[in-house]
Amino acid sequence: MNEQTELISLQDLHGPDPVPDLARADRIVFSGSGGKDSAAALSAAVRAADAAGVRDRMVALHIDLGRTPRGHTVEWPGTADLAQEQADLYGVPFAVRRSAKWPSLLHRIKARGQFPNLFNRYCTAEKRAVSHRFITEQVNELAITDRPARIVLILGLRAQESRSRAGKPAVETDQRASNSRRTVTLWYPVLRWSTVEVWQRIRDEGLPYHWAYDQGMTRLSCSLCVLASIPDLTCAARLRPELAREYADLETEMGAPFRRELPMAEVIRRTGRAA
Ligand code: SF4
Repeated sequence: MNEQTELISLQDLHGPDPVPDLARADRIVFSGSGGKDSAAALSAAVRAADAAGVRDRMVALHIDLGRTPRGHTVEWPGTADLAQEQADLYGVPFAVRRSAKWPSLLHRIKARGQFPNLFNRYCTAEKRAVSHRFITEQVNELAITDRPARIVLILGLRAQESRSRAGKPAVETDQRASNSRRTVTLWYPVLRWSTVEVWQRIRDEGLPYHWAYDQGMTRLSCSLCVLASIPDLTCAARLRPELAREYADLETEMGAPFRRELPMAEVIRRTGRAA
């Protein structure tokens, strides 16, 4: 198990974060990647739902980013199965959804002609669209007619993962997902948790986690994430050379690098393979 050395929990510095009133929620949607933060967030969400007596209102969603034109999974192989195992452990119904427009994120990137980047994260916008569609399904199923349905959407974001996440509140209204038929409240239950706390919860609950962590990865989701650290990218390219080759060939075809300062060909070179 890979552990970083973040020992200080932001919870200790800021005190406990607020929790939404789950008893008032009509549906509690947990959107999980199967990664470590998602697993810990699911555990925290289930505990809070149990305290409110509403675990039966929970449903777990995994957004599958599909298979590349050469047939490789964009995410780490087995993540959907892992996300299901984690949900099954708590008896939470599980669903997988994919983009309605693109067979995979790499197809989307190819059509766009450039990789996403920090300032243009259209990849996450694609995921958001899938999650909003799933919420619409839930609202239709609830069939509440006299008021907007109250949906809580739970994500395993952590402040230590990025500067943009660090400034987020743990509970906020999702204006983009809310409309006349529903109000969507976003909740990030592990926002202020340290990496150590995340792994501790996974151990305490006996939650299954992905083998890629034991191989050196610190984050999961897309195997080759445009925002990943260089060690994670090099590790991923070493573990999934065919996928890295496909990304490198695509950057040649598009004439646009994976990352401006770090083409995939360079990542591959760093693994010791010839690009
Ligand atoms: S893991 Fe990275 S590349 Fe994949 S959708 Fe998220 S931000 Fe985009």
